[in-house]
Amino acid sequence: MDRKPVIAGNWKMNMTTSAAVKLVQDLEYKLEDKGNLDVDVIVCPPFTSLRSVSTVFEYDKPKIAVGAQNMHWEEKGAFTGEISPLMLKDLAIRYAIIGHSERRQYFSETDEMVNKKIKSALNHKITPIVCVGETLEEREENKTQDKIKKQVIAALEGLQGLEVRKLVFAYEPIWAIGTGQTATPEQANDVIRFIRATIASASEPEDATHVRILYGGSVTADNIKSLMAEPEIDGALVGGASLEAESFAGIVLGARHS
Ligand code: PEP
Repeated sequence: MDRKPVIAGNWKMNMTTSAAVKLVQDLEYKLEDKGNLDVDVIVCPPFTSLRSVSTVFEYDKPKIAVGAQNMHWEEKGAFTGEISPLMLKDLAIRYAIIGHSERRQYFSETDEMVNKKIKSALNHKITPIVCVGETLEEREENKTQDKIKKQVIAALEGLQGLEVRKLVFAYEPIWAIGTGQTATPEQANDVIRFIRATIASASEPEDATHVRILYGGSVTADNIKSLMAEPEIDGALVGGASLEAESFAGIVLGARHS
């Protein structure tokens, strides 16, 4: 199955609005003369810059889509500080990162909340980028597969096959996020193969072949090609290296099939 690569930048809690606009303009400029990229390129700025960034693309015939870093599952109500899928749709946001390890770790997001967010995103035609991954301790105790299986099965709870096909997963080993310590391409490929097998057993094998599964954890323009050479890796979720146009454009270009 030929799956279109995805490169998504997670800016986390970085960038003022003016810096965000400059970054995406620089990025567009760097990708402008590169022809058809054949890569889905996504930037996920903080909520405060979503409007400005999507306005840049509204007028510029974008090669780049905009995603949010999180969303609540309800459409509206008394949830102080939260952002709803309706608000994201209103800004033409097409993707949302769901269940990033930092949200699970610092904001107590549970597998159940992740599942509710996924269902709500799909109902609002927002593609969820669902993050799963193990801690260093879990890896050292040989519990990687147990952890990943639990997170993937919980994420898929109650979804129909056609919905499953629309998901993007990101395998992000927590020990590799922001540490400069990348999983080897073989390690990443092995876990991603396991994620696909888990999806196949929870849904249908055919559904699993459609799901794009990214690797995330200290991806750079230097290591993207070796990651993309692995058959199961469909792209990358990029943190630090997405904060500069030069490095993020290098990752996008390195992810192309040809
Ligand atoms: C992330 O936060 O999703 C991430 C992968 O970060 P980094 O690329 O900085 O490791």
